[in-house]
Amino acid sequence: MTFATLGLIEPLLRALETLGYQTPTPVQAQAIPAVLAGRDLMAAAQTGTGKTAGFAVPLLQLLAMEGPKVTANSVRALILVPTRELAEQVHESVAQYAQNLPLSTYAVYGGVSINPQMMKLRKGVDLLVATPGRLLDLFRQNALKFNQLQTLVLDEADRMLDLGFSEELSNIYRVLPKKRQTLLFSATFSDEIRLLAGQMLNDPLSIEVSPRNVAANTVKQWVVPVDKKRKAELFVHLMRKGRWKQVLVFAKTRNGVDALVEKLQGLGVNADGIHGDKPQATRQRALDRFKTSDVQILVATDVAARGLDIEDLPLVVNFDLPIVAEDYIHRIGRTGRAGNTGEAISLVCADEVNMLSAIEMLTRQTLTRHMEQDFEPEHRVPDTDASGQVVKKPKKPKKPKTTGGGKRNLGKWVESGEVSVAEPSLKPVRKVPVFNTGPRKKK
Ligand code: AMP
Repeated sequence: MTFATLGLIEPLLRALETLGYQTPTPVQAQAIPAVLAGRDLMAAAQTGTGKTAGFAVPLLQLLAMEGPKVTANSVRALILVPTRELAEQVHESVAQYAQNLPLSTYAVYGGVSINPQMMKLRKGVDLLVATPGRLLDLFRQNALKFNQLQTLVLDEADRMLDLGFSEELSNIYRVLPKKRQTLLFSATFSDEIRLLAGQMLNDPLSIEVSPRNVAANTVKQWVVPVDKKRKAELFVHLMRKGRWKQVLVFAKTRNGVDALVEKLQGLGVNADGIHGDKPQATRQRALDRFKTSDVQILVATDVAARGLDIEDLPLVVNFDLPIVAEDYIHRIGRTGRAGNTGEAISLVCADEVNMLSAIEMLTRQTLTRHMEQDFEPEHRVPDTDASGQVVKKPKKPKKPKTTGGGKRNLGKWVESGEVSVAEPSLKPVRKVPVFNTGPRKKK
């Protein structure tokens, strides 16, 4: 199959050729004809499978072939994305695909001055990429009108519809024309999101090019159990031992990012960090320098988990596991892209066993563990598997209490029994008493 057989016009074929795209990826093969036919879509595709071109290329063709010229402050197609970095990246791809077409494209997002964006929108824009908050700001300041809007794309739709954005999104829907084409693209879809999406779309075509919630199989994944307080030391050890060149590292908190960057810089390592407290220009500069390999190690919170395309990135390290299991798939999807192989290493401490279990259940795999010599944890990470089980060492049976026996068979007693069965993945595991025994006891 070629792009030409999918019915694309010559200026787009030329652009794709310039970019070195020879054959459509599976998501492109399914999405392109459907979008060209005007269908609504709900597409689940693994990250790194070429979904941006899957929606952007046919969309550009529709904009070039159909509809009136864009008028002042209007947009004809809108792509909503969850993060600023993703807005830049999606727009960069769109601009490349549109290089031979007489169409205007632009990206708007928060964290930077709104005035240049208002100026730019004055003439109208054929295709706009936006984060929801800034889009609403621009609309409220009359810098944007949606009367010409023909297509709405939600990229990373699960996150877009997730709690954080639900209010902004419903405010946006309210002001969009009812008659429009809507495309939902996402790597992961929970069942509730599917239901919600089903209500938003008109007779949607559902595309699922890969099993749901499965990470790309080109990424070799493994876990190193370690004590929390020794994670940074282990990271430096593995970095030196493996002679890591370009690594994207995910930490849970902004402070965690700063602390690791500081430690690495203190050791003379070329490292930088990205998180929500940093000004947008600094975030973008760090990312750009990482992409050009001017920065060797980029430490980030989950602002960098989704959608970022870093060419040939060989390694992702989860310094901390993500709280939301689906973010694991997004994080490790930064490597092993476009058919390359990659590696994802997670440093896991006992506190994180429930997150590990949730990830294994979601991705339906038991992650291989590798115990690093001299870093064996004192606080053992209980065994886990893809069934969601956290295998704790059996506790010693409790001695029956000698007082209050009459109450033991009443509600309370039974209730606590239920909790221990239903909640294994919610309970902290620190209480497992294994770390107080054994030969590696320190201090
Ligand atoms: P995406 O999943 O849209 O972020 O794309 C992942 C990477 O694959 C990007 O670097 C794209 O430029 C590249 N890509 C997308 N489609 C193709 C294709 N048909 N042939 C080769 N590379 C592609």
